Amino acid sequence: MSSAAPREETPDSNADDGSPSRAPGPGDRLCARVACGAPAVATLTADYGGSVMAVGPLSPERTPPALDLCPKHRDRLTPPAGWTLVRHDPGREPQEFSQ
Ligand SMILES: [Zn+2]
Repeated sequence: MSSAAPREETPDSNADDGSPSRAPGPGDRLCARVACGAPAVATLTADYGGSVMAVGPLSPERTPPALDLCPKHRDRLTPPAGWTLVRHDPGREPQEFSQ
């Protein structure tokens, strides 16, 4: 007589591996404006050579010269005198400048 003991199911061991790769998500980056602190949704870059500012969707990587902006400050953005502001709307074909 062999009593076939049912195999006990082992509960899943807690996968306690520190988060492998953490992708930046919304809320991870904050508006660069002082005393704002709202989640950033857009990234502003400036081409000082061509006096062109470009604002578009939040860049996947934080690049030092670029500023992250919340929707409010993105919409309120006005270029300095002599500068051109280019808005890259999500869903639209982004414009590229040469130079
Ligand atoms: Zn802001």
